[in-house]
Amino acid sequence: MVSICQADEGMYPLSSIKNINLQKAGMKLTQEELYNPNGVSLIDAIVRLGGCTGSFVSADGLIITNHHCAFGSVAAISDTVNDYIKKGYLAKSKNQESPAQGLTVKITVGYIDVSNDVLEEANKMSDAASRLNMIKIRMEEIVEVEKAKNPNLTYEISEMFAGKTYVLFKYQIIKDVRIVYVPQRNIGEYGGEKDNWEWPRHSGDFAFVRAYVAPDGSPAAYNKNNVPFKPSRYLKVNPQGIQENDFVFILGYPGRTFRNQPSQFYQYHAKYQLPFITNIYDWKIAKMEELGKNNYDLAIKYSSQIKSLANTTKNYKGKLQGFNRVPLIQEKQKEEQDLQKYILSSPELSSNYGTLLNDIQKVYDVKFKNAELFMWLSQLFNSTGIVKSAHTINNFTQEMKITYQLKWYDVFNSTAKMLKKQVSESYGMFVPDFDKAFIAKMLMDAYKNKNLSQVFVALNIPQRNDYSDELMMAYFERYAQKLVDQSSLKNPHQIFAMLDNKPESVFKIKDDLTSFVKKLSKLYNEQELLRQKQDAELNLLLAQLVEVKMLKNNAAFIPDANATLRFTYGYVRGYWPNDGIYNKPFTTLTGLIEKADNTEYILPEQYRQYENGKEFEGLAHKGLNDIPVDFLYNLDTTGGNSGSPVMNDKGELVGVNFDRAYTATINDYAWNENYSRSVAVDIRYVLWVTKKVAGADFLLKEMGI
Ligand code: GLU
Repeated sequence: MVSICQADEGMYPLSSIKNINLQKAGMKLTQEELYNPNGVSLIDAIVRLGGCTGSFVSADGLIITNHHCAFGSVAAISDTVNDYIKKGYLAKSKNQESPAQGLTVKITVGYIDVSNDVLEEANKMSDAASRLNMIKIRMEEIVEVEKAKNPNLTYEISEMFAGKTYVLFKYQIIKDVRIVYVPQRNIGEYGGEKDNWEWPRHSGDFAFVRAYVAPDGSPAAYNKNNVPFKPSRYLKVNPQGIQENDFVFILGYPGRTFRNQPSQFYQYHAKYQLPFITNIYDWKIAKMEELGKNNYDLAIKYSSQIKSLANTTKNYKGKLQGFNRVPLIQEKQKEEQDLQKYILSSPELSSNYGTLLNDIQKVYDVKFKNAELFMWLSQLFNSTGIVKSAHTINNFTQEMKITYQLKWYDVFNSTAKMLKKQVSESYGMFVPDFDKAFIAKMLMDAYKNKNLSQVFVALNIPQRNDYSDELMMAYFERYAQKLVDQSSLKNPHQIFAMLDNKPESVFKIKDDLTSFVKKLSKLYNEQELLRQKQDAELNLLLAQLVEVKMLKNNAAFIPDANATLRFTYGYVRGYWPNDGIYNKPFTTLTGLIEKADNTEYILPEQYRQYENGKEFEGLAHKGLNDIPVDFLYNLDTTGGNSGSPVMNDKGELVGVNFDRAYTATINDYAWNENYSRSVAVDIRYVLWVTKKVAGADFLLKEMGI
């Protein structure tokens, strides 16, 4: 048996579960009960739900997930009259369950390693770009072949180790998902952004949805005649919950981690990406809030975007704090120095991998050099409706011109159709005042950064040393205002009409804005090409890196998270987030009530009654003599694990994972007992809210409680 390198990570793919000594860790389930590729096991109860995770908790397809995972679907059916976001949504019977826009359910049916098939042809290619293209082609071909064999399933190939290991996953997809119960926002998101990525926490971040299929059991789009899906396995809900130090585990779909990346990747994030993005996102949030202040419609339009930007920027700040506190980069560098010594210790290894680490460094030298320009351009081109649309039109125009001149009208028409689709998507985020302000901000940022002087050369704007920052900013604001106000692109309807009636007329759009975008597009397209080249080179180099690391450690490695089903286990545990502070692993309803302040922490009306008497409904934590609200554990999770079931040693549901502590945001680079803590809503609080607040005893009954 291959030993697993377990010291610093634990997002085990299904294929590795058999290698863990689970009984020793505290698990009561057998391997087969947990995962049985040839029969029904616990994993059959776990689903990917949109970008989150969920689990079946009844024979009738009831799924538990997070409030924040159902938020978008509830927002889609809310308005000022029926503000379900604010008040919550409860379907009192199945026919009141409302379609959950944007949510689909994905169940892992099986997997098979197809690395040889994917790589055989590719590895014969001498050029890195052709090799990567061949990998992509083979992946598509293999999926097509499988699809033809069984059109009822969906197939995806996931790269487990870059350039090295590819696994074909088979999924059953359920398209009809309906909202059953989503608590009001001041329960589901108590403490809002202030508490996001924090502990102590008092969020009731849970929701119930239900999966439906056609009467014959096949997956079908929403139809009122569809029937609840009957899962082959669902989780038993344990109203006794969990205690401090108990063994717990999670099955879920973590999105992305970076543990198998080289030290330069960490440097890139710490030095360039994280600070750059936090600066831009903080600015965007402030601007959106400012614009939404006097425009309620706009405020609603921006609400989801602001939530997601704020979620990312705080996560990135947590990561930056982590990079400052923990010597992750130095540790990686040391590991790589040791690896180089190991490589040089044998002539065979030297000839195969002697230049590997240096070759990686060379790719990153170019990446570092271009980092700021690349990030600046990609933000400029992707953050505003008007620049994005202009760039899309510019890129398409060349292609359309050729097909038009050659009278290939079919090709021309289908390109025009594609262009219309992309342009209308780009205009979805068009708010003229935002766009003007953003262009001005980006020009000012570039002006202050010597590494971005190419921008001004391309635009032919002199970088004036005699102007103060204030004067320069005023100059850029006027410049951006003119660009947008004088452009025909500021009128999307006119552009759509052109694309509908006479698409060739877009060739003629020429004004200052299109020429501004054209000049920068040249730089952006160059950068994009450079990126593709680097990706291709790294795909090959990283494959070799994992290969030689495996040789050195004589061990298998756990692949980074890639939105495929993973297992992680550990214990309910507190921790020391900062010097002198110990955080206990449970919060309580009493603590939630004490925290209420009418600004960030708005106490649900129904809880006032609770202040008068303790109505535990048999759901109290015995030691705390209170309803436990949230709890902490040292498992290895990341984004995508939102909504994952937290289970006890018998595989019973005791919580729903929804977040990590601030110190654990760095976990994406390396797990550590000291700072890696994830957060779940306690099942006792879920049941308490569902019963006491929603009065939905029928849901408890459906879950067998
Ligand atoms: N709360 C996290 C998010 O919204 C998900 C869970 C995690 O990243 O730990 O991204």
